[in-house]
Amino acid sequence: MLQSASLRETVAALVPVLSWVVFGAGVWLAWRFNRSALALALLVLFAAERALAAGAPGAGAAAGTGRVVATAAALLVPLNLAALAWVSARSILSPAGRWVLGALLAEPLAVALLCRPELAHVARALERGAVETSAVALALVLARFAVLRTIVHSSLAWAVVAAFLAMRSGGAAATVYFATGGLVLVVSLVETSHRMAYGDELTGLPGRRALDEALLRLGGQYAIAMVDIDHFKRFNDQYGHDAGDQLLRMVGGQLTRIDGGGRPFRYGGEEFAVLFPGKSADEALPHLERFRKMIARSSFTLRGRDRPAKRPTHAVPAADERKRISVTVSIGVAEPERDRAAPEEVIRAADAALYRAKDAGRNRVYRAG
Ligand code: GH3
Ligand code: MG
Ligand code: MG
Repeated sequence: MLQSASLRETVAALVPVLSWVVFGAGVWLAWRFNRSALALALLVLFAAERALAAGAPGAGAAAGTGRVVATAAALLVPLNLAALAWVSARSILSPAGRWVLGALLAEPLAVALLCRPELAHVARALERGAVETSAVALALVLARFAVLRTIVHSSLAWAVVAAFLAMRSGGAAATVYFATGGLVLVVSLVETSHRMAYGDELTGLPGRRALDEALLRLGGQYAIAMVDIDHFKRFNDQYGHDAGDQLLRMVGGQLTRIDGGGRPFRYGGEEFAVLFPGKSADEALPHLERFRKMIARSSFTLRGRDRPAKRPTHAVPAADERKRISVTVSIGVAEPERDRAAPEEVIRAADAALYRAKDAGRNRVYRAG
């Protein structure tokens, strides 16, 4: 947009309100979603944007002051974003969070001190470290992202890049880059909320709400399968709730590989639903049967405390064998018919077929009559 002459005018018209709108909305959203680190990251970008705009040539500030403020921003903004990326998983009121908060509040004071003529040589010396500081900050944020893998952490990395570009370009373009960095943070917040609403955190599959909406969009032919882990309560009792969670993740992961166009959802508890748009129950059957066999064949290895950290160099079958647990699933599948046209009725029919599969001895796929 900044490169195109015609768009530049539109952008220029937006500049006076751009950062107020983006950061105002962003801080409000972050506050509503209880994301204090993200709210602070937005405030850091906003403060830098305002400070640079106020210190720009022709803005009435002394030339020396504007330069010191720009130097300080080039160092502090990336470092602040990196610090916030590292405390973001915890509350801002945790000990580490308080340190970051304290540092943030002290920064304006430090910058004001740096503006004094006696410290001009310090400010001059700091000018050289801008690129390296951004690179280090980016590496720190990426390291955090590599561990936590959240949308918010990836957006913080992009915010560091945006801030770097902002401070390199200066002028109205700086405002546009800062606002873009803020926008990336806001989008990450919206995406995170979307994932929380529609996804299942444990398995990573879409959840019940996503299924309800997918059902609304269905038309014509489709099949729904209900998949339930056999004797899951016993598994939980025997190996613990954490192992149960691991098993749910394993089955959920395998379900994403089901073929025939089946779309898996976590229905709730240890039940999954698989939607086959455009397929009849008979057409879905072989795919479900293949999935059932795959689960029955695959052995589940418990990742427990007594599991060796390193893979043994040679196989130790005897000791390993008892940790390998086989798991089975039962499945019921149904399609809409004259007397059950609504998706909820099809699900009920699939559920009834599932319970017949359980009664018949489990580890089987039944089709609703
Ligand atoms: P069946 O073969 O008839 O399906 O028996 P089951 O034991 O699998 O079924 P039941 O409905 O009796 O037990 C389901 C158990 O699933 C009870 C509940 O504690 C457990 N459960 C539900 N959600 C979760 C979860 O998210 N994690 C873990 N670990 N357990 C869960
Ligand atoms: Mg079960
Ligand atoms: Mg169940």
